[in-house]
Amino acid sequence: MIIKKFTGKTEDDALKEVRAELGAQAVIMNVKKVKKKGLLGLFSKPTVEVTAAIEEEKADLSGSSAPKSRIDLKTPDNDVLANGGSRPKETLHPGESKVQRYKDVLTDEEYEKLHPEAKKKEEASKKQSNDRIDNLQVLIEQQLKSVMDQDAENAAKAGEKKESGNKEIMSFIKLIYTTLINNEVDEKYANDLVEEIEKLSKPGVTIDYLLSNIYQKLILKFGVSSGIQPMEGGPRVVFFLGPTGVGKTTTIAKLASDLSVNQKKKVALITSDTYRIKAAEQLSTYADIMHVPFRVVYTADELKNKLEELNDHDYIFIDTAGYSPKNTEKRDEMKRILDAAKEVTAIDTYLVLSVTTKYRDLLSICDIYKEMDDFKLIFTKLDETSTLGNIYNIRVYTGAEISYMTDGQEVPDDIETFNPQSIVRSILGG
Ligand code: GDP
Repeated sequence: MIIKKFTGKTEDDALKEVRAELGAQAVIMNVKKVKKKGLLGLFSKPTVEVTAAIEEEKADLSGSSAPKSRIDLKTPDNDVLANGGSRPKETLHPGESKVQRYKDVLTDEEYEKLHPEAKKKEEASKKQSNDRIDNLQVLIEQQLKSVMDQDAENAAKAGEKKESGNKEIMSFIKLIYTTLINNEVDEKYANDLVEEIEKLSKPGVTIDYLLSNIYQKLILKFGVSSGIQPMEGGPRVVFFLGPTGVGKTTTIAKLASDLSVNQKKKVALITSDTYRIKAAEQLSTYADIMHVPFRVVYTADELKNKLEELNDHDYIFIDTAGYSPKNTEKRDEMKRILDAAKEVTAIDTYLVLSVTTKYRDLLSICDIYKEMDDFKLIFTKLDETSTLGNIYNIRVYTGAEISYMTDGQEVPDDIETFNPQSIVRSILGG
């Protein structure tokens, strides 16, 4: 894998450099602002430093850099497992000498270095069959024995070295596994990840290589987040779905105020949550502060009318009522509302989830809302927990893009476009 740092005046500049040098497949591993140290820093603008990585043409570590070896890649522990928990016995196959055994695990060069006499043995045995000269045979046998003893000693030393390297890698893999589990990554997904790095644990591989590899794998699994994009030829209509109390209304307020106040876009807010007066009042208050229109809709037809009425806006955000899995009446109503909107315009659907929700509940929430529409994800309340494995679990389970994450109650500040780097660092124990 090639890992390189690129700097630019802006993140875009640095990213252009990345693409130009490493191509479109490069994975962004880190982005940070760099300010010159000392007095110079006071007068210069910070630059942006992007760390990017790409796997070399099928980064085959066993290829050029690592020594070619015929040593079996199975670790000692795997051998133990393969033998039902007991270490395999040292057995020689019939007709197989110890020298032959060592030959199997050494490169030609290593073998020749360690066994300069081996050739002699071959020649000697030929001679022996043709012309049995007892004394010479004894001499050769003695020589061979001493060479074999030396070989056995060398091989034992090499074995010890390999074993200690393997042990270090195995401890590292165990550490990664326990960190993932402690961060509540689903055991199944943690096993998959560990299996993938185990496959890379060839001789010569370093822990740094494995760590950056798993980091890269996780970032790739999270994929790219695009967030809410402007729409051409009409408003971008966005529904926010999700259980009550996860932070839908607050998230809408955060996004809407950034767009209307900072980006000067025309935003309108609608709520179809007529069950909770407080929710409607809350959104209405935000709308007043932002000076944007606010509408309440009670039926699917009303929604169609309001969408047409607000057609000249850049963005229309729609708050919805949360419902429980058992409440089929509310679920059907939600479906009618979404279908009605689809009759008049294209819609985007965001499922808002709190990271503080139990994993099993998150799974069933995703299953329920999957019936509604294809959704993207927003995770809220990242400030309320330090175990973020569920974000990874749900990403893998749903395959849905994660667009935003929120980490506090402050409107509009506590929201940002989903940043996989910080989540992956947290999942891997910082
Ligand atoms: P809704 O029922 O899904 O619309 O949820 P609300 O937007 O009404 O939010 C419910 C509660 O969660 C409110 O007290 C919000 O201030 C709070 N909240 C929303 N987002 C966050 C967040 O990212 N972090 C924390 N700590 N609280 C949040």
